[in-house]
This record gives sequence, C-alpha cells and structure tokens, in this order.
Amino acid sequence: MKQLKNGLEKDGQSLSMVPSFVTGVPTGNEIGTYLTLDLGGTNLRVCKVILEGGRKIGNIKGQLYEVSEDLKTGDVTILFDFIADCVKDLLLKEWGNNIQENDKIDLGFTFSFPVIQTAIDKGILLKWTKGFTCTGAVGNDIISILQKSLDRKSLPVKVTALINDTVGIALAHAYYHSEVVLGAILGTGTNGAYFEQLENIKKLNHNFNPLDKMIINIEWGAFDSEKVILPITQYDNKLDKESNNPNSQIFEKLISGMYLGEITRNIMLYLIDRSLLFNGLSSENFNKHYIFETKYMSIIESDNTETLENTKQILENLFHISTTSLTDRQIVKRICQLVGIRASRLSSLALASIISYCKMEKSKCCVGIDGSLFEKYPNFSVRMHNTLKEFFGENADKIGLHYTSNGSSIGAALAALLANQSK
Ligand code: ADP
Repeated sequence: MKQLKNGLEKDGQSLSMVPSFVTGVPTGNEIGTYLTLDLGGTNLRVCKVILEGGRKIGNIKGQLYEVSEDLKTGDVTILFDFIADCVKDLLLKEWGNNIQENDKIDLGFTFSFPVIQTAIDKGILLKWTKGFTCTGAVGNDIISILQKSLDRKSLPVKVTALINDTVGIALAHAYYHSEVVLGAILGTGTNGAYFEQLENIKKLNHNFNPLDKMIINIEWGAFDSEKVILPITQYDNKLDKESNNPNSQIFEKLISGMYLGEITRNIMLYLIDRSLLFNGLSSENFNKHYIFETKYMSIIESDNTETLENTKQILENLFHISTTSLTDRQIVKRICQLVGIRASRLSSLALASIISYCKMEKSKCCVGIDGSLFEKYPNFSVRMHNTLKEFFGENADKIGLHYTSNGSSIGAALAALLANQSK
C-alpha cells in the first residue's frame, strides 16, 4: 500500500502507477458502435463492438490477423499500413455500404507495449517488447502513426483512445457490474488496473476535475523487484538469473503462467541432484529451460487417478523418465501444488492491497480477471478466495472474482466513448 501511494506521488517508483487518461467510470448505460484494435500478442484483433446500454453488449464481430515476423521487424509504416488494411477488411465485412459520406467511426486501440501517455489519444512508444522491433516507432506517437496509415487509405475512421489491456479489463468489467474495484490479468504475465480519485494522483499536472476518477495501470508485475519484501527461494533466484530480464518483474516471476512450470522444473532438478527424486535419474530434456509448461501443472494437479497415471505419462513423454515410483509422482504433484498455491496466494495479496488501499474491505466489490492461468489452472480462484478470507475474514465473501473475456475489445470501445465524453 505504501508503494501504491509512492507511485501515485512521483515518477520512477517501484510501482509505475501509470495514469491511463481514461476518466470516468462506465455506468453500463453507454450506447454506441465502435471499432477496436488489439495489438500485443501473436495476432492482431480487429472488432466491431456494439454497446447496447443496460449493461448489454451486442455480439462482438471480430477477426484475427496474423502478424508475420517480417511485419514485426520491418518499418513501422509497413506494420501500420497492414493494420489499416485489416481495418478496411473488417469495415467492408461488417459495415459494407452502410457508412454515410461524412461519417467517422471511432476506434479504440489496445496497445500493450510500454508507452508514455500524455492524453487519452497520445502515447509515445518507449520500447518494443514481445519480439517486435519495428523501426521508426520508438519515441513517436503511436496514435498519429496509425491515423496517418488509416488516412492514406481514406478510411472513415478516427482513432480516439489508446489503452493498455489491463485498463481495458477494468473498463469492460465496470460496464457489467456496478461494484468493480479493479481489473487484473493472470495469464502469460500479470498486471492490474483500478479506478483512482484524480485528486489522489499527485504526480499528474492536469486540469481534470479532482472529484472525477481515472484508471491507473499499476504495473504490479514489477512489485518488489528489489527483492526486499517477498520471500524469494533459491529456485526463484535461479529462474531470475537465467531469464532475459534479471532483477525485474520479480512479482510476475512468482505468479504468472510463463514462469510457474519453470520454477517447478527447478525444484525437481534440485531434488534429482540429491537423489531424492527418480533415484537421481535425469534426462537431456530435464535441462531444457521452459520445457515444463504451466499447463502440465494443471494436468498433474487434477490427476486424481490412484496411481497418478497422467503424471506418469507427462514424466515419460516430456522428460523420458519411464521408471517413476508412486512416491516420485506424489512428490511431483506436491511440488506443483506448492508452486500453484503460492501463485494464487500472492495474486490475492495484490488484490487485497488494492481493496484495502481503496478502503473497500467492508464493501461489496468485484474484480474482473482475464487470463488462461486464472481460467484454466485448477482451484486457482478457490485458493485466491481462501486467501482473501485470511485477510478480510467473513467480509471476503463480499468480494467477487469474475473471469472476464473480451475485456480488451469491450474496454477499447468504452475508452473511445469516454474519450469523446471528456472532450
Ligand atoms: P496472454 O496472457 O498471453 O494474453 P493467456 O491469457 O491465454 O494469454 O495466457 C497464456 C498463458 O496461460 C500461457 O503462457 C500459459 O502459461 C498459461 N496457460 C495456458 N494454458 C494453461 C493451463 N491449462 N493451465 C495453466 N496455465 C495455462
């Protein structure tokens, strides 16, 4: 909570607490038709989102477009001209000839890369991540590059809002529920965003109404990157040292889907080296980083066969260890449980601190959560809820943890709408 406060007061703190410039909280009565773009993973997603009011969303019409390696690593104009072509494709499919001559369709852009925003429709790219290296983008305003590409193709589209995916989840969830405090991601990585009173965002020098609210992108994956607060084990340290970003995103490395399997592999290796597992037998595959994906932990944790047959299969097929005893398999299952339980407990720690910080611990509130880890890992949400009970006692029953999908498209549509309202 202290770090949340520091991040709101000054730049350069361990929690970035990035202002999203999205002001206002959706009421669920918003109405309008929007184009949305989501760039940040393997695919580009373009959608038509209809906000119908009454907390209802029309059937989302969307299309995925593969972003090739050439596009990811060429010049940014080529990438954004490709994006404009994809927008044109969806416009033709979903709007056809139903666009009047002087109509402009508003577009909300979910762009999940590090940007510095100075307005809802202005974001300077700080650096590319996730395999993108396009020239001509870093240091420039992403919205204006996109708008130029759309204009070159004479498309009737105006880019009105730029948001990050976590902000989108918070917005989307607030459209459906009135008691939303925050949106979170528990997938490959982890992050959260919440609604903060503008007067509390001391580092922001703008003429906003201090009584209004703005969504803050917490960037909580970076929490405790100084390694002074959380108990970090030797297995976590090994993973961190061997990662491509040592000493950063430490909280994320304890929690998110990208890392849990690797922590588990590190623990198994430690026990093998001491002949406490598989009689000391290892294999070439056991030395391969990230070979043991988190999805295998899900299978092992839900293996309720008497002889742990599914666990045996994974050890045989993935690691070529074919002579495991039942005790070996029980140990492997227990390691998965411990790593999985710790991840869910730490995720709840993040939620509990925001809920307490917003003084919502006695109120009815809900959290919108997206991501395959939360969706697919067995008992993840039950374990999270049990941990919230340790923090808040019976009051934890007033906290809803809701899986939210399509958050980034619905959120981008709402951001585009709120951008127009705040003008
Ligand atoms: P992203 O966060 O990349 O946008 P997802 O929310 O789908 O996408 O998260 C993908 C991550 O979820 C993968 O990196 C993987 O670690 C994890 N994951 C996928 N399937 C499972 C599963 N069955 N059980 C646990 N974790 C899973």
